[in-house]
Amino acid sequence: MSDQTSLQAKVTAQFRDFLIAHQLRQTRERFAILEAIYDMEGTFTIEDLQQTMQDRRFPVGIATLYQTTQLMVQANLLIRHPFLSSAAVFERIADDRPHSYQICSNCHRITRIKSKELASSLESYHTRSFHITHRIVYVYGICVSCQRQARKQLKIHLQLSENKPKKHSKK
Ligand SMILES: [Zn+2]
Repeated sequence: MSDQTSLQAKVTAQFRDFLIAHQLRQTRERFAILEAIYDMEGTFTIEDLQQTMQDRRFPVGIATLYQTTQLMVQANLLIRHPFLSSAAVFERIADDRPHSYQICSNCHRITRIKSKELASSLESYHTRSFHITHRIVYVYGICVSCQRQARKQLKIHLQLSENKPKKHSKK
């Protein structure tokens, strides 16, 4: 059994147990959505998921996608990132390894942080009264292209104010 096949089998069983425990229906759609999500790597929006389902010739309505992703979040199979972007951003929980992201507060671009130090300190974090299901860290800031854009705008602004006729700058 390949890693991907065993991962699919594991999450299917986990989702089935969750649906049974919550007396929810085990529909073909729900398992097809789960399978599609676990074939995807990285973050995605509901629109991306809808496109993926269409590509797989298993079109599903947006309401079903919202409802199913919500169930998967409750079942600890999916992360809904608290990103600033208007569309909800999701990601599968494929492993127990910690994840860290940097998010641009201006353009909302998300990038993975590849820091071994951060990962190992997250991994070693334990607390007695709290059962940890996944470890995620978010770092907010301004990305390189937004910094560049801001510098460019500042330059234009300074040039404009230099070229302004004196009667406007004087009072
Ligand atoms: Zn940015």
